[in-house]
Amino acid sequence: MSPTKRTPKHPAYGSRRRAVLGRCAETDKVRAMLVSRPPDVRYLTGFTGEDSWLLFGGGWATLITDGRFAEQARRECPKIDVAVRTGAMEPEAAAAVKKRRIRRLAVQGTHMTVRAHQKLGEHLPRVRLAPVADVVRKVRAVKADHEVRALRKAIRVAERAFKEFLAPGAKALVGRTERAAAARLDHLMRLGGASGPAFETILAAGRHGSLCHYRPGSTVIRRNQAVLVDWGARVGGYCSDLTRVIFTGRIPARIGEIYPVVLEAQRTGIATIRSGVACRTVDAAARAVIAAAGYGEAFRHSLGHGIGLEVHEAPGLARTQGGRLRSGMVVTVEPGIYLPGLGGVRIEDDVLVTRQGPKRLSALPRDIQAMVVR
Ligand code: ZN
Ligand code: ZN
Repeated sequence: MSPTKRTPKHPAYGSRRRAVLGRCAETDKVRAMLVSRPPDVRYLTGFTGEDSWLLFGGGWATLITDGRFAEQARRECPKIDVAVRTGAMEPEAAAAVKKRRIRRLAVQGTHMTVRAHQKLGEHLPRVRLAPVADVVRKVRAVKADHEVRALRKAIRVAERAFKEFLAPGAKALVGRTERAAAARLDHLMRLGGASGPAFETILAAGRHGSLCHYRPGSTVIRRNQAVLVDWGARVGGYCSDLTRVIFTGRIPARIGEIYPVVLEAQRTGIATIRSGVACRTVDAAARAVIAAAGYGEAFRHSLGHGIGLEVHEAPGLARTQGGRLRSGMVVTVEPGIYLPGLGGVRIEDDVLVTRQGPKRLSALPRDIQAMVVR
């Protein structure tokens, strides 16, 4: 026998489903669940298509899809039943529920539409539908080793693309529109192995940097400007999420003032990360640095969020967030200061939670001088 520990090539979908069902049973005494949210269906089966529901219980699972996805579903999910529906989803799902003699069925209360719930109820008058919230979300928050490897890959692709993006120096930006510059970065991520950007790349020149969810437009980037770039790559389904502020020459005075505050807040936030720490404690630690510098009101969002198959996952690092960090969670840490009319600074990295403390998975430079492109 080989002494090396071999991790399975494929995710253990069966054990993921067991974990989800275990959580449902704790609260609602259900023994079967209907999952309608596409990223959750993917997490629990490996199926990458859409418009499909997963019905599962202890030791069995049925993916209900339609003709467009039949071949793909059988290929991607060889170990579970694939039911190809010819009519509407609800009666097909109801038939599968009846076949299994299910009496109480968990449904995704934060995703299933009112209409689907009503239809399902009409077809299943004797079945109790129990809406559950956040069950899959909580299981997904803790990443298996192979998921951490997938996230690392997504981070590497994003980082490499960013370095290549800036390789020509300031001319990568100056004289181009925000939209053209963002498109080039997206293109480099694809060439580097991403299936696409993990989300719409934010590239905000000058005063646009104060708009947290800015969409790059036709504004031409000039010299001596700050340019906020928030980007990520999707690789093998997994998402990275990074932010840097770069300077096309001279650093604008106010931005130069707030940059070190944001960086200090980020370092402080990251330093508090460790399994067992309350999520809100991490947010509070970073927020305190910004508040102490007099910019408390200008940090207008939470500190970070989990990443995985989706770019925003549990846990949230927010003031109002309950719960604690656990080993295997991967979170962003992204404090920011936004000055309307002037611009903004946000610095974002991706961090793995371990028992020993934080492990930064992204490694691009953060010091202000390293952000100047000439
Ligand atoms: Zn981001
Ligand atoms: Zn983020």
